[in-house]
Amino acid sequence: MRGGRVAVVGGSIAGCAAALAAARTGADEVVVFERAVGRLQDRGVGLALHNDRYAELEAAGYLDAGMPWVQLARRPWVVREGTVRAGRQIGVLPFPFRSYNWGSLWQELRNRIPDSVDYRTGATVTRVVSGTDGAVVHLADGGEQHFELVVGADGYRSVVRAAMFPDAQARYGGFVAWRGTLPAGRLPSPPEAFPEQDASTVVFPGGHMIVYRIPGPGGHGTDVNWVFYTSPPAADGLRFGGPTNVHPRAMTSELSEHQLGLVNEHFPPYWQEVIHLTPAGTRFVQPMYDMATPHYARGRLAVVGDAASIARPPTGSGAIKALQDAAALERALDTAGSWAEALHSYDAERAPVGRSTVELGRSLGRAQVQETPDWAAMDQQAVERWWQAAGGGNGFGGRALRGR
Ligand SMILES: Cc1cc2nc3c(=O)[nH]c(=O)nc-3n(C[C@H](O)[C@H](O)[C@H](O)COP(=O)(O)OP(=O)(O)OC[C@H]3O[C@@H](n4cnc5c(N)ncnc54)[C@H](O)[C@@H]3O)c2cc1C
Repeated sequence: MRGGRVAVVGGSIAGCAAALAAARTGADEVVVFERAVGRLQDRGVGLALHNDRYAELEAAGYLDAGMPWVQLARRPWVVREGTVRAGRQIGVLPFPFRSYNWGSLWQELRNRIPDSVDYRTGATVTRVVSGTDGAVVHLADGGEQHFELVVGADGYRSVVRAAMFPDAQARYGGFVAWRGTLPAGRLPSPPEAFPEQDASTVVFPGGHMIVYRIPGPGGHGTDVNWVFYTSPPAADGLRFGGPTNVHPRAMTSELSEHQLGLVNEHFPPYWQEVIHLTPAGTRFVQPMYDMATPHYARGRLAVVGDAASIARPPTGSGAIKALQDAAALERALDTAGSWAEALHSYDAERAPVGRSTVELGRSLGRAQVQETPDWAAMDQQAVERWWQAAGGGNGFGGRALRGR
């Protein structure tokens, strides 16, 4: 499929990648409608991309070595052991991931969108309506425009998905991620407690925390990113209106005290210090939601990234899934003889990946947060067996990209 007008709703990671895909397949015109004004660099913190998935996406032209990253290699699993400073390692698993700073990854993708793409900021889409020969985008300023294809890259509350499947809503999964970042220069001593290529994982009854280095803002320097998963004090004690991050200022004292209490009770001294040294303004809470839409395309509408499916972050695959969606859409448009054929093959390839990734997120959430094992009794072999049983050996970091 070449030519035609393509709209992309949302200009974050999935939106930038979808705009690249549409431009490369030779669309006559590509317009990105992004609600936010200015840069999106504050959208997130650190994220990790599996080396193999990176290599596929580099070959597909969506990632390259010019995007600042930190190479990680090992994932030690650690429990508290009395006053032993960095705790006791119960096992270590390979962790072949590259870590990124969310803001600089978005900026680098944004920089790679050709000038021919019309990337509009402050442009809110209120609804989309699919017809037989295209779809109409309605804007908050009252405007409306017709396109041959509309791609929804508009995240968890997607208006494009709502037009396709109004019942596909994100559901709260019963636990939260507490996240924070600090400059690597502020790490406590000794340095050997936290080697540079480690994604250290502190485990305790009812949760875990993963910590790894990421490039600093704009790719300058190095930060340390931690994500601490646990259930909130009472599942119904917090009101999460949707899969939105809870800003530091909006965190309840009940939640903060609960989390700090877990840190003081279960974390080895070194890792307690890492939490306490983290500037309070960088800490926030991300409730865990998930959702898989039944199909990735309907009529002249398609969805990519979080608009299509949201898997819980322990899968380490949100950004990979978004970029793979765009790469698969590009291939489908490139090889099909009609819009309908392209969208059918895109859906057939990506909807099962979305569903299985959501399932993996649930399984990893149970194993690592909601139904944790007796960590302290485990050794290397037990850690390996438990990880395989939880599904970690199949799809952690994203599934392989087909057709490459
Ligand atoms: C803090 C944080 C940490 C994360 N950590 C990881 C990680 O470690 N590993 C990983 O793989 N993934 C991680 N993710 C997830 C990953 O970033 C996302 O899965 C990925 O970026 C895909 O997001 P997206 O572009 O589909 O959606 P989003 O980033 O949510 O973007 C949606 C965009 O659409 C725009 N928009 C929404 N509605 C409209 C509208 N009506 N009109 C116009 N524009 C609209 C929004 O302004 C936004 O820019 C993390 C996400 C966050 C927020």
